Amino acid sequence: MSAPEPIHRHEFLSSLSQFIEASKTDTSSVGLILVDIVNLPQINNLHGYAQGDKTLQFCFDQLLSISRINDTVYRIGNHQFVFILPAIKTPSFVALAMNKVVKVLQADVAGNVKTAELDIKIGVALNKSAALSTEKTLLAAETSLKNAKASKGHFTIGKTTSKPKQTDAYEHIFREKLKANDFELYYQPKVNMLTGTIERAEALLRWQIPDKGFISPEVAVDIAAKIGESFALTKWVIHTAVRQMKQWEKEGYLISVAVNVQADLVQSPELFNLVQDSLAIWGVDKNRLTVEITESAVIDDKEAGFDNLSKLKAYGVQLSIDDFGTGYSSLSYFKHIPANELKIDQSFVRYMLENRQDQQIVKIIIEIAKLFELKLVAEGIEDQETYDYLKQLGCDYGQGYHMAKPMPADDFIPFLKRHEK
Ligand code: C2E
Ligand code: MG
Ligand code: MG
Repeated sequence: MSAPEPIHRHEFLSSLSQFIEASKTDTSSVGLILVDIVNLPQINNLHGYAQGDKTLQFCFDQLLSISRINDTVYRIGNHQFVFILPAIKTPSFVALAMNKVVKVLQADVAGNVKTAELDIKIGVALNKSAALSTEKTLLAAETSLKNAKASKGHFTIGKTTSKPKQTDAYEHIFREKLKANDFELYYQPKVNMLTGTIERAEALLRWQIPDKGFISPEVAVDIAAKIGESFALTKWVIHTAVRQMKQWEKEGYLISVAVNVQADLVQSPELFNLVQDSLAIWGVDKNRLTVEITESAVIDDKEAGFDNLSKLKAYGVQLSIDDFGTGYSSLSYFKHIPANELKIDQSFVRYMLENRQDQQIVKIIIEIAKLFELKLVAEGIEDQETYDYLKQLGCDYGQGYHMAKPMPADDFIPFLKRHEK
């Protein structure tokens, strides 16, 4: 059996700096993908060091198999590898390369360790026109890896927002509320960045408990999933939103509304019937309803999910991928997912003016949206500077506290009138 690749940190740094130097002349970018087999120590313990070595060698060989250029793959730590992507012309190439890395590492490792057992985390950095030094490029990839490690998913191209997980205590109250349909939907405007007008809104669940105030919708959604009431909750949300659309229509406003549908319902064939029934009952035009699903929902269940989503799309409903950038989507999914829209997660938007890495990720996502002819929404815009910058980058819609916080249905039309003055 071969010994694993020795650690070549020094050679890596020298090679990286040469590629960065070369990118000065043709104003290309250098990408860096950092791969960490987080649980190698456990594999060593469980299966023995020989198996650990085999795993390391496997990962190295797989990475080598997809590198077309010499001196781009190195082992730089006990269980860390890097993959340099030199002379990149379009940022979306980085996403494509990550897709490849994930794919080759998902093949089964020879021997006892199956890749399903491997806990692999990936960090990424993009150095445009040699703007960053060699050390800073590595540091950026390490920060991205650190964020990936802090997140649930195995692969990430940046930050993840940590979602609150708590409160079994509210389960009982939730059941009662659901029985009484005692929730509310707030509506947050989405501004058309080209025209400055508001024709769209996202419906957001609001649940108030006396003395406690608002409980996060994410908690409500978690409880619903836990007690098997996701469908009932979504049914209430969709019917309420569609009925509201009809109400606004009667008042002379054709507002498109997006509803959030949780991951575990994407696989359910009942979702299509629910959407269809609701639009028929309230007599609302199909293409004014958008279904927002999180990126992770799309990744989790490919087959059933694709079928249901394709059906919805063929029917005429718009599909939007929410929190984009926090999970890991293989670009090839976009061929199958009939999405109309991507929503850049707010964790990238919030600090994009100060944080170069966030800015680059936003640019990559915009690039991806253009590549697949998807509309782009940026969420979490909290100031004019961010709005202006996103507009300049070609973002289609903006949503955020800077324009408006989510508001009760009754406040929406008065807000619209003030906005249009
Ligand atoms: P989301 O779908 O990504 O919704 C955007 C969230 O960002 C909303 O939080 C919104 O209030 C907040 N937001 C918008 N602009 C800004 C801003 O400029 N700054 C900041 N700090 N926040 C901003 P909210 O209403 O608390 O909802 C959180 C999440 O809960 C939603 O994220 C969505 O995943 C889930 N959710 C909300 N309503 C529903 C629902 O009816 N069904 C399902 N399944 N999930 C829902
Ligand atoms: Mg949403
Ligand atoms: Mg979101």
